[in-house]
Amino acid sequence: MASEAKASPRRYPMYINGEFVESADKKYFPVVDPSTEEVMAEVPEANETDVNRAVAAAKAAFDSGAWPQTTAQDRGRILFRLAERIRKEAPHLAELEARNSGKPIVEAEYDINDAATCFEYYGGMATKILGQVNPVPDNALSLSLREPIGVAAQIIPWNYPLLMAAWKLAPAIAAGCTCILKPAEQTPLTALEFASYLADAGLPAGVVNIITGFGETCGAPLVKHPDVDKVAFTGSAEVGKAIMRAAADTVKRVTLELGGKSPNIFFADADFESAIDGALFGVFINQGEVCSAGSRILVEKSIYPKFVEAMSAKAKTIRLGPPLERETKMGPLVSKDQFDRVRSYQELGKKEGKVAAGGGRSASFKRGYYVEPTIFYDVDNTARIAQEEIFGPVAAVIPFADEAEALRIANATPYGLAAAVWSRDIFKAFRMVKALRAGIVWVNHMQPTYVEAPWGGYKQSGFGRELGPWGIEEYLETKQVHINLNEQPIGWY
Ligand code: ADP
Ligand code: MG
Repeated sequence: MASEAKASPRRYPMYINGEFVESADKKYFPVVDPSTEEVMAEVPEANETDVNRAVAAAKAAFDSGAWPQTTAQDRGRILFRLAERIRKEAPHLAELEARNSGKPIVEAEYDINDAATCFEYYGGMATKILGQVNPVPDNALSLSLREPIGVAAQIIPWNYPLLMAAWKLAPAIAAGCTCILKPAEQTPLTALEFASYLADAGLPAGVVNIITGFGETCGAPLVKHPDVDKVAFTGSAEVGKAIMRAAADTVKRVTLELGGKSPNIFFADADFESAIDGALFGVFINQGEVCSAGSRILVEKSIYPKFVEAMSAKAKTIRLGPPLERETKMGPLVSKDQFDRVRSYQELGKKEGKVAAGGGRSASFKRGYYVEPTIFYDVDNTARIAQEEIFGPVAAVIPFADEAEALRIANATPYGLAAAVWSRDIFKAFRMVKALRAGIVWVNHMQPTYVEAPWGGYKQSGFGRELGPWGIEEYLETKQVHINLNEQPIGWY
């Protein structure tokens, strides 16, 4: 009996030196749709040979050819064309992103729009990179020039695939760097689609190279490569530390955006309905797969029982579903690994706290990495579920007595990415804003992010800032130029 032949998954090439290529040894690895658990595509498995090829292309493009001759205006226009192309392809990109990552289509549409906005923002900034004249006490002209750092290796995670690519590539291109981007192995597809826009936008070959592979065999050789001048990384704290160590040998510039265990703090005087919504949005957006997730929910004792009850009741109504359905508010987790990891924290949470909502795999789906939005309460801040980044829809609710205790608990974490405070008392809210040790603090909201504002962490959440003018600084060197204006000989000996 002839069995029905299954269509083989689409093979995407990767992009090196302006060409679509296989890996040197022609190996591919599967990309899985997390809602069906089926292979949706295959991508090249780059290893050290491919890394060397991509770095050589990026170095050659930085040193010679058209790129070093481009003006800031040229670079700005390339970025505007990329933004325009992303907007044009947005329906397709959003669908691909939702299918590959598991996020709801409506959220994917926001992400794609934000990616385009990021290219527009840095398109405008390309012509606003300014040097200065230094007022030295001599008959001389002292200048500081801003120049591109060189070859940048950019390693990104799977939670916001194209948006993270935009945050990395846009400022680097505006600054005049050349790039090797390595998307996460789970979610390489939108970045590979994006690769096909680069030449059309006028980017010379080798300026942006996009290679697909695993952390150990592709990411690590990229970080070690002596011709890479800078590493920009977003991902886990563990890998961030390894990257920092590896980068030390060749004194690479490093920026790290790592994990978090961000407190979302609710005082009794906050608007209750907004607070409940803000607590849910803060921790469950994007399935909780967010570095700034408000995963520690600190609630003032006088409203604590009512808060836990209202939050849990609403959490149970969150609509889980296939990413492509417009009504879906939460999709599957990105991968089997992530599913297992989150499941194990759900089990741990049952020992470390009390279950208010969820706690397991979602029973509504036979396939796919769906877990229930989960809320544990009466959690001690020293519990593992309150200290370790879970990166899934799991919240730990912790009561506090007063402002001083809220602050002490909020800051009792090795991380410092984000925090939020909810109160109608502006004095209290602003005292908290000032005392919270975090790179991003929201008041009466959590999660909105703008390309105009700085993004990055305190403490073990990393260093360096992305977005805004801060984002481009990380791709620039400063050159001091001293021009002697004395025509007579200088004479000392
Ligand atoms: P997660 O464990 O949630 O997947 P990671 O921090 O491991 O998060 O992954 C983020 C990115 O870092 C991915 O692109 C991954 O391939 C890459 N990566 C993982 N390990 C290394 C490594 N040792 N060196 C460089 N990059 C790595
Ligand atoms: Mg990992």
